[in-house]
Amino acid sequence: MAATAIKTVGIVGAGIMGQGIAQVFAVAGYDVLLYDIQPERISAGLALIRKNMEAAVEKGKLSAAQKDEANKRINSVNDFRYLQVDLAIESVIEKLEVKQKILQELEKNNSTETILATNTSSIPVTQIAAVLKHPKRFAGLHFFNPAPAMKLVEIIKGASTQETTVNTLRALVENLGKVSVLANDSPGFIVNRVARHFYVESLQLLEENVASVETIDTLMRSTGFKMGPFELMDLIGIDTNFSVTNSIYHSFHQDSKFRPSRLQQQKVDAGHHGRKSGKGFYDYTTKS
Ligand code: NAD
Repeated sequence: MAATAIKTVGIVGAGIMGQGIAQVFAVAGYDVLLYDIQPERISAGLALIRKNMEAAVEKGKLSAAQKDEANKRINSVNDFRYLQVDLAIESVIEKLEVKQKILQELEKNNSTETILATNTSSIPVTQIAAVLKHPKRFAGLHFFNPAPAMKLVEIIKGASTQETTVNTLRALVENLGKVSVLANDSPGFIVNRVARHFYVESLQLLEENVASVETIDTLMRSTGFKMGPFELMDLIGIDTNFSVTNSIYHSFHQDSKFRPSRLQQQKVDAGHHGRKSGKGFYDYTTKS
């Protein structure tokens, strides 16, 4: 399918990324259908999209008319089978089997032209595609957080992804006003593989009691990073960040340079997932 033929976009997962991606497509003029296994995540996602777009209007980044149009273009479905679209993007938890099951269902319920994509941060696209009948129409389409603000989108070409699928996605990313970078399939692709060391090494510093969360964040910001590692993990979601590190660690056969942190495991176990849960390395119940 050519990029110009894509009119409707289905998004599975209304979490941090799914809602941001929905906003991006709706603002760019696409009809969006959003689905999540937890209905309350859909309503929370839609409310946050509205709030974010209102803030964009206040900042002069979006006109009030654009905001209203985009709001009208986003709808939700309460049954997976209603997601019949030109492009379907899965953006659920970072678990291979969950992603594979969703994509298999999407493939079954959609036309043989529909392009399927995953927003995975780390799982090799070829591995996800192993269960698909038509892996040639499937690729990685990796947005960054927050999706409306971040310009970069990684397009990941799996072993069976057809060149035409990649070309369509490149043109589509351009239509969204974003910049695509093509990566061949490898765990963590480009950005997340390099960025792993930012997190892993900072967590190790903390475990060794070399410096506090605040000190490490302040120092890293002062060297030019927009955010320190701990505030960034809180933004991403500590559970998601931990799953991504685990996935990359195992994909590289337990290479110690990617070893996940026990401290991070503890945060996940405690339900301290960062901003989305109100508490992570920082406390957002008191922080403005
Ligand atoms: P999140 O935890 O905020 O949201 C995940 C959503 O998936 C939840 O709402 C959950 O209910 C839903 N879900 C789980 N199982 C489902 C199923 N079977 N069917 C439908 N919905 C289901 O996670 P997130 O941060 O939005 O991450 C989603 C994906 O995006 C992951 O693959 C992650 O690696 C990737 N990603 C995350 C970031 C980030 O900074 N958080 C950045 C880029 C990519």
